[in-house]
Amino acid sequence: MNLTFGYIRRSSYKQIENNSVEIQKSQIKNFAHRKSLELPDEFIVIEEATSAYSKRANQRKELMRLREMMIEMNVPRVIFYEASRMDRTGYTFVLDFYRPLMSKLPNLEIYTTNSDEPFNPDNEYNKIALLIAMQESEIKSERATSGLITVLENNEKIIRPGSKIPFGYKHVKKKLVPDENAEIVTFIFFLQSWGVSMHKIATILNDASISAPLGGPWGTSTVENILKNPVYTGKLLWHVHKNRKKTTSFEFREAHESLIDNFFVVLNENNIKLQNKYGRLDTPFLFLNKLECQHCCRLLSTQNASTTRNGKKYYYHYYVCKQCKYKLSANKVHELLIPKVFKHIDDLAVNDKTKSSTIEYLNTIDHTIKENIINVEKQLDNLASKGCIAKEHGDREYEQVLEVFQTKLLKTLTELVTSQGVLQELFEAVHSDLFFSRFNSLLKSELGTTETRLLLLYFVDKILVSSENPIKIMFKESPFASFHLTDAGQSTET
Ligand SMILES: [Zn+2]
Repeated sequence: MNLTFGYIRRSSYKQIENNSVEIQKSQIKNFAHRKSLELPDEFIVIEEATSAYSKRANQRKELMRLREMMIEMNVPRVIFYEASRMDRTGYTFVLDFYRPLMSKLPNLEIYTTNSDEPFNPDNEYNKIALLIAMQESEIKSERATSGLITVLENNEKIIRPGSKIPFGYKHVKKKLVPDENAEIVTFIFFLQSWGVSMHKIATILNDASISAPLGGPWGTSTVENILKNPVYTGKLLWHVHKNRKKTTSFEFREAHESLIDNFFVVLNENNIKLQNKYGRLDTPFLFLNKLECQHCCRLLSTQNASTTRNGKKYYYHYYVCKQCKYKLSANKVHELLIPKVFKHIDDLAVNDKTKSSTIEYLNTIDHTIKENIINVEKQLDNLASKGCIAKEHGDREYEQVLEVFQTKLLKTLTELVTSQGVLQELFEAVHSDLFFSRFNSLLKSELGTTETRLLLLYFVDKILVSSENPIKIMFKESPFASFHLTDAGQSTET
């Protein structure tokens, strides 16, 4: 008789989705029937929701009881509804459940109802499934936030970090509520999103006679502390002390009213990336690393020949091709090109079609990312089978080479999943007009150096120059092209 156990985990939030206990139970029963496995009703173990959240497997009472029963009764089979029911922390299921069982029951067969093959933790697909389960559990945990906070508040061992109330908020009935300083926080994030440095932000606030959180003038570190605090996007961090040495942090989204949209965080991360790639924003060479000599196919360098004569400063800035020596006055380039670039941006911002074409562009990116994920998964699977062969032949050296590749691919996979998250923010920013409204009436405003340069980096792909042809501006297909969301995965061809 092929006896088997079944394992069901109740969800921690109310839901009508197909994860209810009854549905899990019937799927597991069907699976057992199909596989000709004997599953008595009393062999179905049900884990209660509250005991499952974010705990490692060995802290799940029913799972551990199941492990003991399987060993005691010598039943080496169990059916889980799906991977996310097995584990939320990804690896502890293997450490606390799979491996100890395997040592006692060598014929161990762990199934999920969506696969005919027994679970094997060394199989890449299972690693991926666990990774995805982790992602999903994060999303689910957001929905469960309010309930969990109540649970956490009643637990004395849990301390919320720094009982200090963040600048811009006040406490009302133990909840953070924006106060009269909230606008200053929003303003700081707004300035940062336009590439204004923290030092400059502090100066602007001091010039406006706004006093710092603890009174007195603003410093770079005060501004930095605000910009780095996740509390302003509505997130709340809780630190749970498991024992004296170990502390785990949990992040809850939408815990209170946010002062800034997540989009600002995404924008700023991209601004930093752009500066790493093209050089600083605060430079008189607005087109730094954007001008290409059409003749030599190389980027133009900058030349600063400014001098001071009779106490007066004379600025002489040039863009130069080091190969053919073609030289352009920076001022002339700026006077000619900047109005054209601004016109392009303004046209985009007011054009009704921009929104739909941008969505279309983002859809293409979405598609590419998904394809890349499938591609990486295939490569991981391929590596795993090569790894098996290497193992069989005792070729440790080759195995190690494969492991290096595997680590690389798993990193790429993580990057791709991150890109998907960023993409979601971009979709929302376009839908809500948060993005294009930034450029409305741009031509009417007085823009500083950093803002202008940031705009050029977003919208201009490159400028082609040469002694024989007129200057040519190549615009980016979409401003979101500057986010390089599909870069991950492209270099993974093996
Ligand atoms: Zn040249």
